[in-house]
Amino acid sequence: MINNNNDNELQFIKGVGPKRAAALIESGLYSKTDIVRYFPRAYIDRRSVSSICALADDIRNKEYVKDNNEFFSSVLKSEVTIIAKIYDANVKTFGRNKKAFIIILADSSPSKAKILFWNKADYFAKVYKAGQIVVVSGKPELDDRGFINFNHPDIEIIDEEDIELYSQGKILPKYKITEQMKKAGVSMNVMRKIVQNILYPALDSINETLPASIIKQKNLPEIKTVVSNLHFPEDSLLLEKCRYRVKFEELFYYQLAIKLKKKIIEVSETAPAMSEKSKSSRVLYEQLPFELTKDQKKVLREVAEDIAQSKPMNRLLQGDVGSGKTIVAIFAMLMAIDNGYQVAFMAPTEILAEQHFHTIKKFIEPLGFKTIQLVGGLKKKLKTQYLISISEGEANIVVGTHAMFQSDIVYNKLGLVIIDELHRFGVSQKADLIQLAKKSFSDFPYSPHILNMTATPIPRTLTMTVYGDLDVSVIKEMPKNRKPIKTKVGFDENRQEIYNFIKEEIKSGRQIYIVFPLVEKSDKLELKAATEHFEEISSEIFPEFKCGLIHGQMFWYEKEEAMTAFLNKEYDILVATTVIEVGIDVPNASVMLIEDAERFGLSQLHQLRGRVGRGADQSYCILMTKSHYKYLLRRNDDIQNEKVAAIIRLKTMEETTDGFQVSEVDLKLRGPGDILGTKQAGLPDFKYADIINDTEIIMDAKNFAQKILSEDPQLRNPEHTLLKKNIQKLYGNENSFIQIA
Ligand code: ADP
Ligand code: MG
Repeated sequence: MINNNNDNELQFIKGVGPKRAAALIESGLYSKTDIVRYFPRAYIDRRSVSSICALADDIRNKEYVKDNNEFFSSVLKSEVTIIAKIYDANVKTFGRNKKAFIIILADSSPSKAKILFWNKADYFAKVYKAGQIVVVSGKPELDDRGFINFNHPDIEIIDEEDIELYSQGKILPKYKITEQMKKAGVSMNVMRKIVQNILYPALDSINETLPASIIKQKNLPEIKTVVSNLHFPEDSLLLEKCRYRVKFEELFYYQLAIKLKKKIIEVSETAPAMSEKSKSSRVLYEQLPFELTKDQKKVLREVAEDIAQSKPMNRLLQGDVGSGKTIVAIFAMLMAIDNGYQVAFMAPTEILAEQHFHTIKKFIEPLGFKTIQLVGGLKKKLKTQYLISISEGEANIVVGTHAMFQSDIVYNKLGLVIIDELHRFGVSQKADLIQLAKKSFSDFPYSPHILNMTATPIPRTLTMTVYGDLDVSVIKEMPKNRKPIKTKVGFDENRQEIYNFIKEEIKSGRQIYIVFPLVEKSDKLELKAATEHFEEISSEIFPEFKCGLIHGQMFWYEKEEAMTAFLNKEYDILVATTVIEVGIDVPNASVMLIEDAERFGLSQLHQLRGRVGRGADQSYCILMTKSHYKYLLRRNDDIQNEKVAAIIRLKTMEETTDGFQVSEVDLKLRGPGDILGTKQAGLPDFKYADIINDTEIIMDAKNFAQKILSEDPQLRNPEHTLLKKNIQKLYGNENSFIQIA
């Protein structure tokens, strides 16, 4: 989207005209530059094209290895492409009114493939006819009769000449063709011609986007070669190099930009430097009922070093559920308090804030410090009282939710901010709190030190991208007394056995969570479902035990009451229809039973499981699901298929308790956007790089950015002027610098 006023530019291109130009514009292509940047999303490439016969062999072989460790790699495999002729195409009627359109494909190999359309059969019958040559891309399955079946593949009708080009060894671009483009007659082939007509005359006027010195050092192809080959590759090796360059370049600029931004904050913002000596934390250390783990101590040293500086700490503490992040945060708080500063601790939900409030109070009150809790819906009188306590500095620690960055709150020398579950807050919310902190100093607008925490451990390369502007500390080691939680998928036929097991656990003094997924759309129905589940469990299944209920329609303080009662062992079983919030700590609970577990997301399951195994006893997580899930595992490969994804989630839970592994699988299933709230985190949409899979390029780009900045921290070298210019564009949300001059 370079220039809206230029929308006439395209219509004069050979093969375009006003109608097609309008369709291109509707598809987001306004200018020649846009077309030049419209890189293919795939290629018809000899290496990814398979014969039908070879494909069938491939799938047969994979069936055998599936039970081994290659499970994930085969399940998560990428799609395949075949080029074939439509041999037969017919609409068939099943039963009374079920229609299907079936295409039989043949190529020169002895096997055949089948495509089935269950929806819009008549429509597709008009589009695809015997004799057409098609390129089919998708994730195939082998049926019982040895036919390759494609479900909802991507199909493109191609010309004879495409096969010709392909047999000459040409790699053909596949562009995304939108509905509007199709309607205006911009087919794949027409698009290829349009790109050709624009690209070749413009090629010479495309400006280089990286300094010559970097191109030389990294041995990259120059931009003209890159643009030309990404559209029409000369050969596959050069195509690889060009793809590498665009990904590298994108990640390199991003790394440069965040590193520079970080530098700017470091030199322009001043934080209160705090002495590492803290009498109170020494006292607490002596009193702790347990020994801190090595990792906890290491993180504490890192934090202490950070806050001793007059540049603001911005550190991320990653640690799995139950790894003991809170106590680390408490030590950090004590250091700040001993230095005369106030501390804010922000949590994403009220119940979680409540839990933290109690934990913090328990450790801090005996030392003579005051903690108060700021959540939504406080009585006016109480709130006024709290606000006074905060502004006068009587409150040493303020724990709360979003309510904490409302503009009517006046903090008093707020020197340390702790944010729990960072990814659940937006960039602007964090900024608001920093502003309040700055106003809380009467002599100078100090920036607070910030400790961010997250229980979603993610791979290092991803951290470097998503949280590239933060220093990262990781707690990998769990407290010593923990036994790994045993996890099992359970089916209805095991129900009695499972209930008996639960009864034994309760008799030996332990407590149980039973969680139901939230399925009801309306509040009223949810309440009804919650009550029914509870009735069944408390009066029919476990009448001899005391049961409590917690659900989404309760006020936060009612939830809190239920949780506290459970903690005080007033209940043996806590039935929960709302997801029990992360962070609730009941060490005596030893079984987490999750009903309809296939409905939960993987990280949700992992978080729920983290509610048990918090004490020294063996704990269990039981994932109940429907019996037919047992049989699905072998049949289908397509992770787009929700049932298959559900199986992968349940399997993963059984196979590992390691949060890093869990999140790796989750990232593959869902992508980073959902999991890390990357939109909120301000991460750009990368056009070329895949932040999950391009790990080596990410490392390479990061190291190289570091090298450039260590040689030329301000990018003052004239050779680096271009870098500076492009970084500025990057802040202006430009994510491709390729442009026709
Ligand atoms: P999370 O990292 O999920 O926030 P918490 O900080 O809530 O974990 O810690 C979980 C439990 O483990 C708490 O009850 C805490 O007191 C306890 N704990 C923390 N550190 C240790 C340790 N080093 N040894 C034993 N127990 C610990
Ligand atoms: Mg926690």
